[in-house]
Amino acid sequence: MIEWVSADRCVQCGICVKVCPTHVFDLGPDDTPVIARQEDCQTCYICEAYCPADALYVAPYADEKVKVEEQELIASGILGSWRKTIGWGPGRTKLAAMDQTPFIDRILPANFNDKP
Ligand code: SF4
Ligand code: SF4
Repeated sequence: MIEWVSADRCVQCGICVKVCPTHVFDLGPDDTPVIARQEDCQTCYICEAYCPADALYVAPYADEKVKVEEQELIASGILGSWRKTIGWGPGRTKLAAMDQTPFIDRILPANFNDKP
C-alpha cells in the first residue's frame, strides 16, 4: 500500500497522479501529490516505478497500513527503489533483460515445438 510521498524529493511532475489506476492521489496546493484515498491502493507499484525522483514508497503489505519515517526509508535505500529494481530510468538494465524465467514455455501449448 502506498505509504509515503517525499515532499523533499518530489519535483511536482504529476506523473503518479496520472498513472495510478485507482486515483489514490490528489494534487496538493503546491502540486505535490497527497495520498487522498489510501484504502483504494492496489499495491501495484506503478506510481513508484514511474516516479522520476524516487519520491514514493509503496509498502508490500496490501491489506494493512504501516508507519514509516522518511529518514529511515532513505537510510535503508528503499525510498523509490522499485524503479531501480526493475531497471527503469536512464542507464539501468531493464528487468526484462535480466529475466531468465522460461516464461514462453509456460504459455505455449505443450506440443508447440513438435514437428508435424
Ligand atoms: S501502488 Fe498502484 S494503486 Fe497504489 S497508489 Fe501507487 S499506482 Fe496507485
Ligand atoms: S511522480 Fe514523483 S516527482 Fe512526480 S509528482 Fe509524483 S511523487 Fe512527485
